[in-house]
Amino acid sequence: MSVVRAHERLSRRLDGPVRLSESMARHTTYRIGGPAAIYAVCDTVSDLAYALEVLAEEEVPWTVLGKGSNVLVADQGYEGAVIVLGKEFKRHRTEGGQVRSGAGVTLAALVQDAYSRGLSGLEFAVGIPGTVGGALAMNAGSREQWIGDRVESVTLYVPGSGLAVVRGPEIAWGYRTSGLPDRGVIIECSLALEEGERERIRRTMDARFLSRKASQPIGMPNAGSVFVNPDGDSAGRLIESCGLKGERVGGAQVSELHANFIINTGGATAADVIELIELVRKAVSERYGIGLETELRFLGA
Ligand SMILES: Cc1cc2nc3c(=O)[nH]c(=O)nc-3n(C[C@H](O)[C@H](O)[C@H](O)COP(=O)(O)OP(=O)(O)OC[C@H]3O[C@@H](n4cnc5c(N)ncnc54)[C@H](O)[C@@H]3O)c2cc1C
Repeated sequence: MSVVRAHERLSRRLDGPVRLSESMARHTTYRIGGPAAIYAVCDTVSDLAYALEVLAEEEVPWTVLGKGSNVLVADQGYEGAVIVLGKEFKRHRTEGGQVRSGAGVTLAALVQDAYSRGLSGLEFAVGIPGTVGGALAMNAGSREQWIGDRVESVTLYVPGSGLAVVRGPEIAWGYRTSGLPDRGVIIECSLALEEGERERIRRTMDARFLSRKASQPIGMPNAGSVFVNPDGDSAGRLIESCGLKGERVGGAQVSELHANFIINTGGATAADVIELIELVRKAVSERYGIGLETELRFLGA
């Protein structure tokens, strides 16, 4: 593996920033994480194709990052390249009820644009941070509604084979999973929305936002729900009933507002968060015999 050679080659060709040893605490909503060996912003599909080719040739592992709102990066960092989608991927256009969006667009921008055009179908996504690519990879949503329901098609860039378009119904959407190939980079999607009454859309969005504000620690660094809700139950309820609200390890704390959120109270390390996750898992397993699975994605050692 030659990180230095890969960095040199990418720096010469890409228009976007290419950095060595970039702190991931700067790129995650947790504000936690050591350095990625390489951090590269790809502005176009051809930059992305080139970057993935170089990384394969130099045997440097890679991952894609959106806004880092569902990721915990190890304190030791990631010995690979973090790819971020830049300019060309940050555009979207709407015709009738069809929205074509680049994967780098923020979900918030799509939600607002749909509202302003009187298009309904994305109200559930109010207040979910992150990019469209991250939302598709995670099948982001609420318990009842998720983005996969709206997808007509997803375009991926698959290293070694190029662009692939997958139709929405062919994708195995699950609870916080998309079933899209792990080694594909989501670059674009088409969503189907329907005409709605603006006032009604606004009311639904406001209600969702207020309920989030009241029940989630949005003022503190966090990465959303840590655990997937087990079938027919709520991870937050299980954790709260074990008396774990407010439980701390170092700078990490189970939120007093919502027990399925672990917040960084300042200076938390990834090791603190992981130790707290294990503590919570053990308590829930001992009391209920339920093994909580994490929704949070992990990057690095
Ligand atoms: C306060 C708060 C509230 C939240 N509420 C919700 C909620 O209600 N519902 C919900 O579902 N989530 C919620 N989340 C979690 C998170 O915001 C979502 O999962 C979001 O969709 C992640 O988007 P992102 O761009 O930040 O992805 P990242 O966190 O950057 O990445 C998440 C995963 O997606 C992959 N990925 C990202 N972009 C691409 C791409 N272009 N191609 C392929 N893979 C890609 C990454 O490799 C990683 O594995 C919340 C988070 C916070 C901080």
